[in-house]
Amino acid sequence: MDEDGSQEKIIVAENKQRGIDIFDICLFISTTELCIGYLRGVGLLVVKRICSICNIEMSKIKRKDISDGEFFRCTECMTKISIRKDSIFENSRLQLKHLMMIVYFFGIDLQIYECGKLIHSLSHTTVIEWFSILRGICSKVLIDMPWKLRRDISGNVIEIDESLFGKKRKYHRGTGNQNVWVFGATERSTRNAFMQIVEKRDMATLLPIIKMHIETGSTIFF
Ligand SMILES: [Zn+2]
Repeated sequence: MDEDGSQEKIIVAENKQRGIDIFDICLFISTTELCIGYLRGVGLLVVKRICSICNIEMSKIKRKDISDGEFFRCTECMTKISIRKDSIFENSRLQLKHLMMIVYFFGIDLQIYECGKLIHSLSHTTVIEWFSILRGICSKVLIDMPWKLRRDISGNVIEIDESLFGKKRKYHRGTGNQNVWVFGATERSTRNAFMQIVEKRDMATLLPIIKMHIETGSTIFF
């Protein structure tokens, strides 16, 4: 790997175009340097770090005898900082290549029990824990996301729909209505979407949601 990770930047850019697959993953986990380069390329590890004491950029020091193979060190005060600091991997003892595989498994919707079949050293509990962390991150990103659905340049429309989700009550046992209405919209071309639980399906309930999530001027298909 060259010093600024440009080789990895190219690989990451190519994969953004076509999506990552198992061959790419095997390549990235084949060496610690490639793994770190990839994780930096997609923003899961920081690329640079400034020493909070000296206010200068810290150096990346490579060491084969530590599990991550690299750490940051300030050339002035000699403070050492893990490359995982301020990342989602900060508190994990798992190797980066295992963490990268877990993120990949989560991304391709693999079932938790299937992950253990692919990596025997991963315990069921570890995968459950990590999938929960990753679900939490995804939820936060979706909730905080400022974008609105909109008609794209080719004039594709936005489809909206409502569905009833719920459990059937066996032998009419249990109390209360366990069904919920979910209202959602999808950009037909990109499949970007949002969903929201609603109590009612009248215009007074749905209109503010449409205004919040769909750009004005978009064509909506019911
Ligand atoms: Zn320093």
